[in-house]
Amino acid sequence: MSFSEIIGQDRAVRRLLNAVGSGRLAHALLFVGPTGTGRRTTALALAERLFCLAPETGGGCGRCPGCRRLFSGQHPDLIEVWPTVRLSAPKDDSRVFTLRDSQGVNHALVDIKDDALAREFPGTRQIRQVQVRELIRRLGFKPMLGDCRVVIINQAELMGVEAANAFLKTLEEPPRGTTFALTAPDSGQVLPTIRSRCQRVPFALAPDAIVADVLRARQGLGRVEAERVAALAGGRIGRALQMDLSRLDEMDRALDLALGGSLDRQAAFELSGQLGSDRESARVFLDGLAQRLRCQADSRDMETRRAAVRGFEMVLAARRDLERQANIRLVLDGLLVGMERRRS
Ligand SMILES: [Zn+2]
Repeated sequence: MSFSEIIGQDRAVRRLLNAVGSGRLAHALLFVGPTGTGRRTTALALAERLFCLAPETGGGCGRCPGCRRLFSGQHPDLIEVWPTVRLSAPKDDSRVFTLRDSQGVNHALVDIKDDALAREFPGTRQIRQVQVRELIRRLGFKPMLGDCRVVIINQAELMGVEAANAFLKTLEEPPRGTTFALTAPDSGQVLPTIRSRCQRVPFALAPDAIVADVLRARQGLGRVEAERVAALAGGRIGRALQMDLSRLDEMDRALDLALGGSLDRQAAFELSGQLGSDRESARVFLDGLAQRLRCQADSRDMETRRAAVRGFEMVLAARRDLERQANIRLVLDGLLVGMERRRS
């Protein structure tokens, strides 16, 4: 999780290192960019640099106790906040924790850190007021090891209005030595009151050629396979590295089918059933659709161009819905039926 492992985000990395080096790091940063572009990894690299006892020009040294505790996931001055799902009752499960709100009501919550957890604990994912209050309580104590502390707020776009209101004062005037790093897909999805208190650090999609190079170097893929994965990863290194290679053919077939113009209701239903089993597959599918429609939008034929633009807008809307809507199949069903209709 050091800065050298972050690929394709040279501007963001340089900017952060310069800011830390000159003592001008903003106390609240908003890392904006698509999932899989390295926002959280960069926040962790920043934490390493700040916690390091012997920092180097490129970041933390990787060897001192500060760096080592961060690597092992046990640094007490790194606080991470994730969107949670609220359970109807406490559960005997180490991942479930309880927070008491100001009315004395206990909330049984689970951090939703990835898609597997989202499947296991379905429900509305949100960063809740009770979590923000707990964060503020913890920030009332001094850092444990050094004089600084890093708070990563993952998926800040899922912070509710009440939570944001509870958070504003602390975000604006954090305790000494506290740095907030919030992540979001784009700043437009973050509440304006939060957004306006943070310095924006953009994360860009990496060019396909760079993604393919990384796959060849790190996973030993051949050129053709690396290029196919890169095309589906849509510039997201994180996604490319986690791609299930056995499903490449299936994904290409699904994209051909969705854009082939002969998808009846039954076929659309089957396709969304096949892709709707996990959110990441649905994301890859939607981003692949968007990419192909963008190419079609350059067509000379007016009708093709119009249909592509309409389709592209539908895909963008579905992409937004996907992150908020628990039922993946509903989103895909609606899109695929709409995609067929747009031609008539
Ligand atoms: Zn170090």
